[in-house]
Amino acid sequence: MKVNKHYAQLEESYLFSNIAHKVADYQAAHPDADIIRLGIGDVTLPLAKSVVEALHTASEEQGHKETFHGYIPSEQGYPFLREAIRDYYARRSVRLDTAEIFVSDGAKSDLGNLLDLFDVDNTVLVPDPVYPVYVDDNVMAGRPIRYLPATADNGFLPMPGADTAGDIVYLCSPNNPTGATYTREQLKVWVDWANAHDAVILFDAAYECFVTEPGLARSIYEVEGAETCAIEVCSFSKIAGFTGTRCGYTIVPEALLREGMSLNKMWLRRQTTKFNGVAYIVQRAAAAVFSPEGMEQIQQNLDYYRRNAAVIGAALEEAGVWYCGGKNSPYLWLKCPDGMTSWQFFDWLLDTAHVVGTPGEGFGACGEGYFRLTAFGDAERTKEAAARIVAALKTLH
Ligand code: PLP
Repeated sequence: MKVNKHYAQLEESYLFSNIAHKVADYQAAHPDADIIRLGIGDVTLPLAKSVVEALHTASEEQGHKETFHGYIPSEQGYPFLREAIRDYYARRSVRLDTAEIFVSDGAKSDLGNLLDLFDVDNTVLVPDPVYPVYVDDNVMAGRPIRYLPATADNGFLPMPGADTAGDIVYLCSPNNPTGATYTREQLKVWVDWANAHDAVILFDAAYECFVTEPGLARSIYEVEGAETCAIEVCSFSKIAGFTGTRCGYTIVPEALLREGMSLNKMWLRRQTTKFNGVAYIVQRAAAAVFSPEGMEQIQQNLDYYRRNAAVIGAALEEAGVWYCGGKNSPYLWLKCPDGMTSWQFFDWLLDTAHVVGTPGEGFGACGEGYFRLTAFGDAERTKEAAARIVAALKTLH
């Protein structure tokens, strides 16, 4: 037998294990150090009350013959959830048909699974730095990857140029890790490029809920022409704290055709063959997010994280450190001071302030010299970390 040799091409994912080892070693050597973690991308607030109530009610239904739900009638998702997602987009003037919405167990799964629709000979364009999963998904399949450098010069938002060539393009906006967010005008340039080049954009909108500034896009379908070139992947993880509950959704427009084939029909066929749907109780919980009470409760949680981001941002400004993000995103992306590399700054910050962040280099070569802090922590601990960061950074000048 032969194994998939492409797995040997995967680079070891040292980022989070390295961080864990370094923090554990430091704590062992300094047992009294009170370490604050601002490195994680996981949320910390619990599920909203209306979501928990929906989980309880749906669980109770599953315990009675009359209300029990077995196999999901449509692997694509219950109509009640797809209608709620359709209406969530309609409130932002994006018209979707429920046939275009596919409920999933999270964005990560779909970002990988969607590649089933595309030939391995396609060239993939991936921003650098970015959520590392896009690269590994394609390395596993043996697809050639070209990187789109995201640098301070382009505001960490790569744009297509005259020589940009590729078949599948990942765009992540608001971006993990930089927090940079495309305007509608910028996305229009990508959409026009993709339509002209017969390419498909995989648009990761996992952090759309953090966007507040007008002019910035929360969905690629806010841009004319996107329905013929873009698939959007989204998640309940960040909007409603579903990182441990697992639910997401993917939009594949009916107008998206390539080589005479409907990508919507292909994805439906793929999902009905390889996926048996998301648990009924989880779909009920996800639908509760979009109820009026659910929306209000999750906004309170998002505001809590936004305040954390503002606290960290104010600290960086006070310390005179360049950063971006944190305004339409839970991530702040700072330039390591004094020419430190990402990992040097990691060690320095851990030692000087007992604060843990994520070295930018772990998200791609262009992330070297940068550092990610997240707003998903506890508010009091974030304030404490911010005060320590200011005090530590001031010792450098
Ligand atoms: N997309 C991006 C950009 C992310 O940062 C993450 C998680 O951190 C995901 C997708 C994964 O989302 P999910 O929890 O729905 O799998």
